[in-house]
Amino acid sequence: MSMNLVTLLYLVASVFFIQALKGLSHPTTSLRGNLFGMVGMAIAIVTTGALIVEISGGKAQGMVYVLGALVVGGAAGTLMARRVEMTKMPELVAFMHSMIGLAAVFIAVAAVAEPYAFNIVAKGQPIPAGNRLELFLGAAIGAITFSGSVIAFGKLSGKYKFRLFQGAPVSFPGQHKLNLVLGLATVALGITFMLTGSWTAFFAMLALSFVMGVLIIIPIGGADMPVVVSMLNSYSGWAAAGIGFSLNNSMLIIAGSLVGSSGAILSYIMCKAMNRSFFNVIGGGFGGETATAASGAKEQRPVKSGSADDAAFILGNAETVIIVPGYGLAVARAQHSVKELAQKLTDKGITVKYAIHPVAGRMPGHMNVLLAEAEVPYDQVFEMEDINAEFGQADVAIILGANDVVNPAAHVKGSAIYGMPILEAYKAKTVIVNKRSMAAGYAGLDNELFYMDKTMMVFGDAKKIIEDMGKAIE
Ligand code: NDP
Repeated sequence: MSMNLVTLLYLVASVFFIQALKGLSHPTTSLRGNLFGMVGMAIAIVTTGALIVEISGGKAQGMVYVLGALVVGGAAGTLMARRVEMTKMPELVAFMHSMIGLAAVFIAVAAVAEPYAFNIVAKGQPIPAGNRLELFLGAAIGAITFSGSVIAFGKLSGKYKFRLFQGAPVSFPGQHKLNLVLGLATVALGITFMLTGSWTAFFAMLALSFVMGVLIIIPIGGADMPVVVSMLNSYSGWAAAGIGFSLNNSMLIIAGSLVGSSGAILSYIMCKAMNRSFFNVIGGGFGGETATAASGAKEQRPVKSGSADDAAFILGNAETVIIVPGYGLAVARAQHSVKELAQKLTDKGITVKYAIHPVAGRMPGHMNVLLAEAEVPYDQVFEMEDINAEFGQADVAIILGANDVVNPAAHVKGSAIYGMPILEAYKAKTVIVNKRSMAAGYAGLDNELFYMDKTMMVFGDAKKIIEDMGKAIE
C-alpha cells in the first residue's frame, strides 16, 4: 500500500470524523453522527493495519498482536458500553480518557525504547530532535491526562472512601507554587530529553507529569466538575496529536486535534455556563470549602410539603407549566414517565415546556440526551437563556430531581456557586419540587428555594411521584 493511498484513506476517515462531530451537535442528528464516527474509525483501523503489514515487509506478525489487542479492547469496550447506566456515563468517560492518556504514554515509551523502529518516514534513522519534542509533549500530556482522569473518575463516582476521590476539593498550603515548580521541572527535563534523547530525563519527566495530573485535579470539586470532564477530554486529544506528530501519523494528528479542539470549545462553553474563567477553575476549585461548610452546618427548617395528588391538582389548574429536569430524574429513569405526564397536561390544553440547564445532570448534554431517549418533542425543550425570561409568567415550575441548577445561592456573594447562571424557577407563581429528602445537590449546598412560601416539596422517588401525578391528573 503506497503512502499516498494511506494518506488519502486517512483523509477520508478524517472527513467522517468531522461529520461525526457535526452530527453529535444535535440530538436529532446524533445517531447519524455516531455512525459516521464508527465508519471513520473502521477506515482508520484497517488502513493502519495494512500500513503495519507494509512496514514489517509483508510479514503479518505484528498484526497478530494488534488484532489480539483489538479483540480484547473491543470486547471490553462493548461490554462496558452495554452495561453502563446513563448516570454512570461520566465515570465511563473519565475512564476512557485515562486509557487514551495511558496509550499515549505507552507509545511514547515504546518509541524511546526503539527509536529506530518508530521513524516511519526515514526508516532506520533515529527519531529527530524535533520529533522528540512532540514525543515529550504527547507523553507529558498523556501522563497528566491519565492520573487526572483517575482522580476525576473517583470524584465522579462518589463511591470510594479514599480522600483524593471525594467530591470536595483537596487543597494544602503552597499547592500552586508546587504545581509551578513541577511544571517548570517537567519542561526542563523534556528539553533535556529533546536535546540528548536521555532515558533518565524522559522517565523523570513522565513521573513528574503523573504527579501533576493528580495535583491539578484534586483541588477542583463540587459544581466545577463539568469543566474537568471536558478539559480532560481536550487533554486526551492533544496527547494523541503530540504522539501523532512524533510518529508522523497524520490520522493521529487530525483525530487528536479534533478531540483536543472540540474538548477545548466544550470547556469554554462549560465555563461560560458556570460563569467562570478557565484559569479560575484550574487555579483551584471554586468554593469547595464553603460548600462543605454549608452542607455540614445544615439547620433544620420547616418546609411546606404535599403529596403527588396535591401536586397534580396544582398542575391541572395551571395554564403554563415549566418542567426543570435534573440529575435525580436520570437516577430515577423517569424520562418516559415525565413525557407521559407532560402529554396528559398538554391534552388538557396546558402549555408545557422543559427548561434545560447546560450543567444539569452529570455530563454535558445529559438532560437533552435523557429527554431525547423518551422522544420528548424538541419544540418543547428550551435552553436556559431562551426560557429564563418565561419563568416570571409561568403558573407552575416543577423541579424534578434538580437542585444546584435552580439554587438562588448563585446570586449570593461568597456562596460556593456565586455567579453561576441558574434556571430562575423561583420566579414562577408556584414551585413544585420533587426529590427524596432535603439532601444537598452535587455542590453540597442548602437550597433557599425549598423554603420559600410558594414552594411545595413532594418527597419520593421521581418515577413513582411522576406516575402518581399522572394517575391523579387522569
Ligand atoms: P444536583 O446534583 O444538584 O441535584 C440532584 C438532586 O436530585 C439531589 O438533590 C437529589 O436529592 C435528587 N435525587 C436523586 N435521586 C433522585 C430520585 N431517584 N428521585 C428524585 N430526586 C432524586 O443535580 P442538578 O442536575 O441540579 O445539578 C448538576 C450538578 O452536577 C451541578 O452542580 C453540576 O456542576 C454538577 N456536575 C455536572 C456535570 C455535567 O457535565 N453536567 C458533570 C459533573 C458534575 P435527594 O437525594 O434528596 O433525592
